[in-house]
Amino acid sequence: MLNALLHEIHRLRKLIRDAKAEIDKAPKLLKAHQTKLANLQKAASDAKDELKKRKAHQMELESRLKAAGQTLAKHEKQFNELSSPKEFAAKQADIDSTKTVIAQLETEILEAITDIEERTAKIPTLDAAAAKGVTDFATFEKEAAEKLARLKVEAADATKKLAEKDAQIPPAFKVQYERLVKAHGADGLAPVENNSCSACRINLTQQQMGDIQKERISSCQNCGKVLYRP
Ligand SMILES: [Zn+2]
Repeated sequence: MLNALLHEIHRLRKLIRDAKAEIDKAPKLLKAHQTKLANLQKAASDAKDELKKRKAHQMELESRLKAAGQTLAKHEKQFNELSSPKEFAAKQADIDSTKTVIAQLETEILEAITDIEERTAKIPTLDAAAAKGVTDFATFEKEAAEKLARLKVEAADATKKLAEKDAQIPPAFKVQYERLVKAHGADGLAPVENNSCSACRINLTQQQMGDIQKERISSCQNCGKVLYRP
């Protein structure tokens, strides 16, 4: 009778403890899922912002190339209108340096185009990941809310049952029992396994085994837990 009662009390106390731990953990878990979703959305949005910047840079390079082309045409026109060798040399230097600028801009534009193509190709994957993140989060949120509601009902139900069971503890053991569960919570009780305390593994004496057999309350002399035979 006492062993069965202690067994049930232990089960209820563990259930309440575990349910409360899960309930306490819920806000942190929700936050982690929110952060995960926010990161996916940020990755997609950052990639798009960066792509816009790169495209604007490409436009700027194109307009610089156009301007350099106009400068070159102007130098070449002026070159044809010159007469002294000294002026020819100076104008040729202008033409050469403008051509160098043009070649450099063309290389930069090609690189920019390749970079933009690569970045553009990655956008659908990032968008898909963000969209999946939204769906995953909605699923998590729904399941977490259901689980939380269920845990609260289970904890409340077990708390009620525990109060009934606690009331059945024989008055002679009441003080000892209450002191131990107050000190150790759900871990204040331990089933006997192979003549040992399952909490600390110490072997129990014949006297203790006898007490437990006779449904007398007994606590482990090593770790102090209330012992019962499951
Ligand atoms: Zn022990």
